[in-house]
Amino acid sequence: MEETVKVLIIGSGPAGYTAAIYTSRANLAPVLYEGIEPGGQLTTTTDVENFPGHPDGVTGPDLMAQMRRQAERFGADIRTGTITRVDLASRPFHVVVDGTREIKAETLIIATGASAKYLGLPSETKFRGQGVSACATCDGFFYRKKEVAVVGGGDTACEEASYLASLCKRVYMIVRKPHLRASKAMQQRVFNTPNIEVLFEHNTAEVLGDESGVTGALLRRNDGTEVKIDIAGFFLAIGHHPNTELFSDQLALDAEGYIKVEPGTSKTSVEGVFAAGDVRDPHYRQAITAAASGCIAALDCERFLLR
Ligand code: NDP
Repeated sequence: MEETVKVLIIGSGPAGYTAAIYTSRANLAPVLYEGIEPGGQLTTTTDVENFPGHPDGVTGPDLMAQMRRQAERFGADIRTGTITRVDLASRPFHVVVDGTREIKAETLIIATGASAKYLGLPSETKFRGQGVSACATCDGFFYRKKEVAVVGGGDTACEEASYLASLCKRVYMIVRKPHLRASKAMQQRVFNTPNIEVLFEHNTAEVLGDESGVTGALLRRNDGTEVKIDIAGFFLAIGHHPNTELFSDQLALDAEGYIKVEPGTSKTSVEGVFAAGDVRDPHYRQAITAAASGCIAALDCERFLLR
């Protein structure tokens, strides 16, 4: 017989696990599917020094393992598997796992996150977590007084470059066009920061490094000439994409594909479906903000079921 669950959580980052902790403690017997990247984006970072309660820091994978354990302690049923189809037309919602197994869910908490975009260079993949990062706020601190580069010319790149400039000796911005896409205010901030050097019309040909991690980058100008820069950190800021493909024609999404929620809540355009974490947040994207929104989704879900 087809299984029916009260709360189905999709995604295993800080938002998903926090929703699982709260809903299991509320006796809602949540089932959580981990998806293709168990633990989410944090498993690709090394040390996390800004998650409150860890004064000596914690590694991303350890933090996620702790959250998972905490959810399991209260009975959350955490399963390996990826949701491949959902039908939100009527409740209980119809959900398919790994293309075969079918489940009915009275409520859904979507915490499928967002993925940073990467350039797709093999050398970039090789040094991921060893100098290559897509989060300056998370990893910038490790490059204090060093030289680093930020790829991208949007608001995120400018913001990350400005942040890194306050810590690092020098920040190169690698921009493929002859101008920045960022807002004028952000551009001014970048141009007024003496230790940021914007390299217009440059693309990254290769990230260079050795066993210690990133040591430089080989850049190709649009006229075909090449230049090498010495850097210890290589930060991507070329955008994120929310993992909302499954819901695209069933939930209201914004122009970038993020799930729209009723302001101040986790409620989506479909009753009984809640969204938490980066899948609904293009701005803050921190583990702690994702965890907080997982809590909000759990409380909204609990109240909905009690109605
Ligand atoms: P954007 O899409 O705005 O910018 C991405 C940047 O990366 C562009 O400069 C783009 O270049 C460049 N890029 C994309 N792909 C590549 C590639 N393969 N190689 C090299 N460069 C590449 O993303 P953001 O994350 O900056 O911003 C997302 C949204 O969030 C925007 O609406 C932004 O305004 C907003 N935001 C607002 C902030 C604020 O108000 N404080 C802070 C951060 C973000 P190109 O221009 O050539 O396409």
